[in-house]
Amino acid sequence: MDLNDFSVSHVEGKSRVGLLKTSRGCVETPVFMPVGTAATVKAMLPETLEAIGAQILLCNTYHLMIRPGEKVVNHLGGLNTFMNWSGPILTDSGGFQVMSLAKLRQLDENGVTFRSHVDGKKFLLTPEASIMIQETLKSTIIMAFDECTPFPVEKKIAEKSMKLSSRWAERSKSSFKGSNGSMLFGIQQGGMFQDLREESACYLNDIGFDGYAIGGLAVGEPQQKMFQVLDYSSDFFPKHKPRYLMGVGKPSDIVGAVLRGIDMFDCVIPTRSGRNGQAFVENGTINLKNAQYQLDKNPIDEACGCYCCSNYSRGYLSHLVRSNEILASLLLTLHNVYFYISLMKKIRELIKRGEFTAFAKKIC
Ligand SMILES: [Zn+2]
Repeated sequence: MDLNDFSVSHVEGKSRVGLLKTSRGCVETPVFMPVGTAATVKAMLPETLEAIGAQILLCNTYHLMIRPGEKVVNHLGGLNTFMNWSGPILTDSGGFQVMSLAKLRQLDENGVTFRSHVDGKKFLLTPEASIMIQETLKSTIIMAFDECTPFPVEKKIAEKSMKLSSRWAERSKSSFKGSNGSMLFGIQQGGMFQDLREESACYLNDIGFDGYAIGGLAVGEPQQKMFQVLDYSSDFFPKHKPRYLMGVGKPSDIVGAVLRGIDMFDCVIPTRSGRNGQAFVENGTINLKNAQYQLDKNPIDEACGCYCCSNYSRGYLSHLVRSNEILASLLLTLHNVYFYISLMKKIRELIKRGEFTAFAKKIC
């Protein structure tokens, strides 16, 4: 098997188990990528991430280009050395954060001019600049630059935006050098409109990418709406390439998306919830701030094998959360990321045994 290759080993309906071979090692899919926004998965040590089975991390181009700047990261050895993580790292293109966080943005055919939400400094992000920044960061998987439309959006606007993203995808591919052995993924857009999603996929397939992401979902639409788009969206892409659903999601979103042929996921939910005192359990989340847990001697989850559940009671964790202790964030983030990674492992095992569809139908 060559580098930057993807092979599918098991299929059940549209769900599949695959192996993505990157320049930084192999990734078993379906996979969840913990989010390391500013080159750190908040409240987690890289060695803990590795110990609990994290295979690949996501970092945000927008955050790193404005602080500390890609040249600083490059000077300090590139993202892997900089953050002491030896496995693969996927960077997003910056497009989504420019739309959601940046100030005074102006968009034209060339790209987006904006002011940083941190210090107001002016930046220009174009497809060429986004790819150059991601190559300077020495990212393992680089994302094409796109525009993400909100929900709901009129069809005319979604179409215009999708066509712009398609032209930007072509420019992203043309400027991609692959000098660090990295891969380049394209991003499908088109809102909630099937014909636009198909047209977008056609453009991307013609250009040719190492993997295909489905963008413009998880932007506030109901879960059933997202599933409707996924029902047809993944079919437009070649079977022998990985498919990545950006920014998703809750456990039931992930299960439903794997059922519809998705291989890769990222989301801030497990880490952000952990910092807010919420812990994932089999049927949802529990909020440890609630008074009912103050005298609770049980771990978050009896069945969980993580360090937090092996050593600490809900009562102690509730105390830490109420006291705003840093250890609360560390332990709850660890449990939540462990929960997500264990879920993905379980999904892979169920697909291998041909039992995933039955499991998924009970959840979503
Ligand atoms: Zn646990």
